[in-house]
Amino acid sequence: RPWNFSAGPSALPLEVLQHAAAEMTDWHGSGMSVMEMSHRGKQFTQIYEEALADLRELLQVPEEFDVLFMQGGASAQNAIVPLNLIGRRDARKADYVLAGIWSNKSHKEAQRYGDIAVAASSGAQADVDGRTQAPWTWFPKPADWSVRADASYLHICSNETIGGVEFPDWPDMKSLGAPEVPLVVDVSSHFLSRSIDFSKVGMVYAGAQKNAGPAGVTMVIVRKELIGHALPICPSAFDYANVSAAGSMFNTPPTYAMYMAGLVFKWLKKQGGIASMEAANIAKARALYDYLDGSSFYVSTVHPSYRSRMNVPFFLKDESLNAAFLEGADAADLRQLRGHKSVGGMRASIYNALPLEAVQALISYMQDFERRHG
Ligand code: PLP
Repeated sequence: RPWNFSAGPSALPLEVLQHAAAEMTDWHGSGMSVMEMSHRGKQFTQIYEEALADLRELLQVPEEFDVLFMQGGASAQNAIVPLNLIGRRDARKADYVLAGIWSNKSHKEAQRYGDIAVAASSGAQADVDGRTQAPWTWFPKPADWSVRADASYLHICSNETIGGVEFPDWPDMKSLGAPEVPLVVDVSSHFLSRSIDFSKVGMVYAGAQKNAGPAGVTMVIVRKELIGHALPICPSAFDYANVSAAGSMFNTPPTYAMYMAGLVFKWLKKQGGIASMEAANIAKARALYDYLDGSSFYVSTVHPSYRSRMNVPFFLKDESLNAAFLEGADAADLRQLRGHKSVGGMRASIYNALPLEAVQALISYMQDFERRHG
């Protein structure tokens, strides 16, 4: 198959697709497709329980966290998070770090539910480590975040899929002078690509359609003590307390997407788990960024300390060659490299399912294109 560099929904491991195809019409002799099963029946219960246990094992999720499978994507969480958490404290405050389009969307949606402030923003040109950085090409340093000690939570998006900006090391809220404020992280586009230090977080959430499976299921990993504070206006199906009490079966869950995510979790375990995946992702990203940095034909505009391992936007110095680049890439079986419309240029998303070989194929096409047009 061609290599698929889509930012999401993105490539899934071929092995997972083939496995699902082989049992599409008859799961384990049940005579049913997974999408035809009752979510409360014994077959689907087994699928769900295995997926849950595998996800917990992969990420080493501590006991004090609940793992919920929800619907509505990460965008719905932009409302569901404040609906569930902002009422924890009487002031109904929440603070947001802005580092790109996704965190901006989260911040905008939250404003409907309380007193929302910006803790820090990379939305202006700034000098970062002695380099002049364009807006949204870097991440504000925690030392510069201003978090209100009585906020109900602090929200960040740790990998900005569109800008290609990744936040490498989450702060301990004590060091920000706000020990009572839980950190809430949108990890959608680097979920399962690296380990998570749960001692630093109150909650993480991710839409599945990058590293975890097809669109339709949203993973929420939340400290149990944060559950149970939903505002009265919170829809029942989105109240973490209801979803948790019902074992993610408050209503019919996205059963097929959960099954597929479960197959991805098993594939990840077979690859050696998150540590192996992380090492592979470091090698892939290094190969691509090293090539970009060594080239005078292409350029990466993101500050080196905040470059995403998953989403690599890059530009041709001569942008009049963009169409030819994409056409040639397609012919070379390298798909979906066009950059997001708000950024332009190109973007290679190199999620877990893409091996180093795919990145090498991209680099070799880029070298060849440069030879012909440089
Ligand atoms: N947050 C991030 C970091 C994303 O990359 C995306 C989608 O690409 C979203 C949120 C929105 O996700 P969804 O489309 O599942 O609502």
